[in-house]
Amino acid sequence: MRGHMMQWPLVLTHFLDRARRLHAGRIISSRQPGGVHRYTYADWAQRVDRLAGALAALGVVRGDRVGTLGWNSYRHFEAYFAIPCMGAVLHTVNVRLFAEQMVYVINHAADSVLLVDASLVPLLEKIKPQLTTVRHFVVMADAGTPIPPGYLDYEALLAEAPASTTWPALDEEEAAAICFTSGTTGHPKGVLYSHRALVLHTLGISLTDAFQLCQRDVILTIVPMFHANAWGIPFAAAMLGSGLILPGPHLLPKDLLDLIESEKCTFIAGVPTIVSALYQYTAQERRFPPAIRQLVIGGAPLPRVLLEGLRRDWQTEVVHSWGMTELSPAGTVSRIRSEMDDWSEDAKTAVRLMQGAPFPLVELRVITETGAEAPWDGATAGELEARGPWVVSEYYEDPSGQDRFSEGWFKTGDVAAIDERGYVRLVDRSKDLVKSGGEWISSVELENAIMSHPSVAEAAVIAVAHPKWTERPLACVVARPGAGGELTRESVRAFLKGKVADWWLPDDVAVVDVIPKTSVGKFDKKVLRERFKDHALPEAS
Ligand code: ADP
Repeated sequence: MRGHMMQWPLVLTHFLDRARRLHAGRIISSRQPGGVHRYTYADWAQRVDRLAGALAALGVVRGDRVGTLGWNSYRHFEAYFAIPCMGAVLHTVNVRLFAEQMVYVINHAADSVLLVDASLVPLLEKIKPQLTTVRHFVVMADAGTPIPPGYLDYEALLAEAPASTTWPALDEEEAAAICFTSGTTGHPKGVLYSHRALVLHTLGISLTDAFQLCQRDVILTIVPMFHANAWGIPFAAAMLGSGLILPGPHLLPKDLLDLIESEKCTFIAGVPTIVSALYQYTAQERRFPPAIRQLVIGGAPLPRVLLEGLRRDWQTEVVHSWGMTELSPAGTVSRIRSEMDDWSEDAKTAVRLMQGAPFPLVELRVITETGAEAPWDGATAGELEARGPWVVSEYYEDPSGQDRFSEGWFKTGDVAAIDERGYVRLVDRSKDLVKSGGEWISSVELENAIMSHPSVAEAAVIAVAHPKWTERPLACVVARPGAGGELTRESVRAFLKGKVADWWLPDDVAVVDVIPKTSVGKFDKKVLRERFKDHALPEAS
């Protein structure tokens, strides 16, 4: 027997209407070259209408892909809704991809129009001749900024566009957006999100037991809008009517802190490296933002020192989350449950450092090397697999990724164990594990232990070839400025003794100026592995 409820499509247009009607007065703050730009959701919604009208006038029709090359800004936020709500597909191009990857993703998605931030025009110029499908290039710049030949002016297009739009009645299964994975091997792979997936994901991340977002929050999204839909936060902000802070390319700690203070930020989302730099700056200046209610940190493992420092000095809740582009991107979130209330601080910290339990509607399992499903015992590790309404079912026109899907599950490429409460502990990315004498060493855990050394600012552990053990760990460390105390192989090993198993102790320690970062600010171990591939480990190991 079928239920008698309305067939009501789960589409982003509803969030746009909601923001316009229910939250007209809430503020969106955007750090622009000339200072902070502020306007309301009412202003925003009107410009979303105009942008859709302008794109339609340029010939964009339902199903067309429209690319963006932009930082976190209010114009980008307009594109986040105008494009999907008109039935087109928002393609947020990662501005930090290599030039040839950028050419590949734009041509592969076949973007018909590309919106580009004025500051990124020089970058685009380098690849423009190789773009085969883009009919119009539109510069997002303040009115009056000179627009180079060959480009259209975003503000002029909006000024000429009709003031209101009739939004099409969309099917919830229609594509709303596409993101590409960073492509550590081969070409980047496209993930095509449906409206339904994004709406459900938005509801999922907002839950009290998840990111706990609400109308009262003023959310700073440090995570870029060109990466994994900025974790879905722009959609959630519009749905809830939260204040939204968009920092542009200004991610230096001082710039972020100024913005946090001036906009009265209550909630921050970002990857560990950038949040860590911000935290260290606030600790050095003894200038702690007073009103931050919560930070969500994900995209890479949350270091213990960062968790403890933020909780102690900022007096704030820190929530660790795991996800990936293929999961829209949120998969798990770690929160203390009621039954843990009387646990020791140490035990709670251990929970907070885990990647956490799956969001409602997401199901996870671990498959061991023998192909069997691992018990939820917190110890048996294997490849983490996921399924659910916001998990990818195939890559966009790319058969090379087919081996990632089987029996209705998506294989994440991460190695994890799940405990009896359903909390995931990510051991490592399978390619980052150090395979020593038939056993695994988790680079993640080792890094975490090393980063609690008072003289270490950052640490990345990589595998180096070893004649006897196949691979052994090499720790690449960055010294904390002014911390004193020399960082050497001996001093780091002595510090780690008793904190990790003896056979985990890194065979060598390389002090480097910086840990190279990926396009979204994660440690780039590919670059380190290349740099240290011929590194001779000391004899004794
Ligand atoms: P990229 O390959 O550019 O990092 P994604 O953002 O999709 O692209 O990265 C997803 C991957 O990031 C995951 O598969 C996992 O390896 C890692 N990751 C994400 N969140 C966490 C986390 N909280 N802890 C550890 N690793 C994480």
